[in-house]
Amino acid sequence: MRQITVDQFRAELVAQGVSSHEHFAFRCPMCGTIQSGQDLIKAGAGKTFAEVERYIAFSCVGRWTGAGAPRKKPDGKPCDWTLGGLFALHKLEVVTPEGQTCPRFEPATPEEAQAHEKGQMP
Ligand SMILES: [Zn+2]
Repeated sequence: MRQITVDQFRAELVAQGVSSHEHFAFRCPMCGTIQSGQDLIKAGAGKTFAEVERYIAFSCVGRWTGAGAPRKKPDGKPCDWTLGGLFALHKLEVVTPEGQTCPRFEPATPEEAQAHEKGQMP
């Protein structure tokens, strides 16, 4: 399990170099797909960034597109995973200044995030 501070988490997102916060990109730990706030808005999880913010890096976009449960072998399609469930299968925890740990999807690499914003699947 990797643990980073809130500041490190933000720094990794800023380092992605995308045009706005809607495009900060994350990798679902179960299906491995790259997804952003923009994808959640498009999938109907909310109308604005503020409305989808609580799902970002926490619930797979597949939950709003009728995707199935995670497959044994990732097939490049989203799943219905959320970190709020019973099983702790996440790979990253963000530690707040108060010492609270919050499971989150891992930020994508700058290359993945930029390709994702342009609509090229990595
Ligand atoms: Zn997923």
